[in-house]
Amino acid sequence: MESCVFCRIVARQIPATVVYEDEHTLAFMDIGQVNPGHVLVAVKQHAENIFALDEAQAAAAFRAAARVSRAIRDAFAPQGLSVYQANGSAAGQTVFHFHIHLVPRHEGDGMALTWPVKNPPREKLAEYADKIRARLG
Ligand code: AMP
Ligand code: ZN
Repeated sequence: MESCVFCRIVARQIPATVVYEDEHTLAFMDIGQVNPGHVLVAVKQHAENIFALDEAQAAAAFRAAARVSRAIRDAFAPQGLSVYQANGSAAGQTVFHFHIHLVPRHEGDGMALTWPVKNPPREKLAEYADKIRARLG
């Protein structure tokens, strides 16, 4: 996709600091660096979000995420590492080409995700699960 910034990175039309690539993925430094060592794993073939991934892309993206995460851990010795992946603007996605954030984490680093739990009754969990299972085939 001509107008997609990550497609242009994959095509080497604009610069990026690449750390890893394989047949389906390209991993490069996030330009914003929430913490030093913050990497994005993107699929090479344009897919807007998780819903658009084929099986090979999905498998490769998480395989690359695990592999690069271990290298980030070894390189930066963070206290933790957050895997963050947004689909749709309501979820915080700003670049509409599938990617996974790997963010090394440290106590008090200021990165926050509010997690407003609702703690519904168990019957509700069963109701939600039924809806999902019915669509998994
Ligand atoms: P998201 O909000 O999950 O869609 O994340 C998009 C991320 O892409 C942000 O963290 C940006 O800092 C990052 N980003 C945008 N443009 C570039 C670029 N040209 N090179 C590297 N990272 C980028
Ligand atoms: Zn793209």
